[in-house]
Amino acid sequence: MNRLIAANWKMNKTAEESVLFIKEFKKLMNNTGNADLVICPPFTSLEAVSKEIKNSGIKLGAQNMHFENAGAYTGEISPLMLKEIGCEYVILGHSERREFFNEDDSLINKKVIAALNSGLKPILCIGENWEQRVQEKTEDVIEDQLIKGLQNADKIKNVVIAYEPVWAISRGNAAQKPATKGEAEEAHLFIRKLLEGIYDEKSAKETRIIYGGSVKPENAKELLNMKNIDGGLVGNASLDPKSFYEIILAAKMGHI
Ligand code: PEP
Repeated sequence: MNRLIAANWKMNKTAEESVLFIKEFKKLMNNTGNADLVICPPFTSLEAVSKEIKNSGIKLGAQNMHFENAGAYTGEISPLMLKEIGCEYVILGHSERREFFNEDDSLINKKVIAALNSGLKPILCIGENWEQRVQEKTEDVIEDQLIKGLQNADKIKNVVIAYEPVWAISRGNAAQKPATKGEAEEAHLFIRKLLEGIYDEKSAKETRIIYGGSVKPENAKELLNMKNIDGGLVGNASLDPKSFYEIILAAKMGHI
């Protein structure tokens, strides 16, 4: 199973800035080795990034999508459009979508199913907030979001689960404390066991569970090399080519 490291640029970088990033990043990294490296820029940069990463081995992802392929949904982007532009992955259920855009598990599930039906690989984000952690509800929240998000999803090997404790995600430039490697590994093992229950042992082993929340060059080595951590979803630290490259190096992903 290829490990995966994805850059979530959120609402950052114009198309021109996105291309500059890719040019710089390609100078640092000439081979993606046996890791899937995914860049998820804003919608407006997808086309430019798609052209710039051609033949580089870097893959393209979107940060959200609608569940229908076409229709009267002003302001939305469909799976079909993402496929056509070259996306292989799509981030779904990010905590910022849940919190600021009121996305619930049933909507996220529709998107997961639509992505799979369109041949896109969903990166399904789940994770508890600080209040839920303090109230010892972490496992309940993870279980609930995972089961509801994956309802009727049969191509589980094409799904990537991103465990992103909401309290660990940086807000703008405000750094948060990442989960410790022990906290992250414990949650990942729990998710792996849940997948085993929903699907089977083999599928659970072959599904990538990646960690997100304040991953930086300084902590990538210890966080991303834990047994049940199959890669990372990186926000803030993926905006700079050098720091994203250093995270990949630290995580020993690919031959650089
Ligand atoms: C994210 O929001 O997906 C994320 C991982 O952000 P950050 O790395 O900035 O905490």
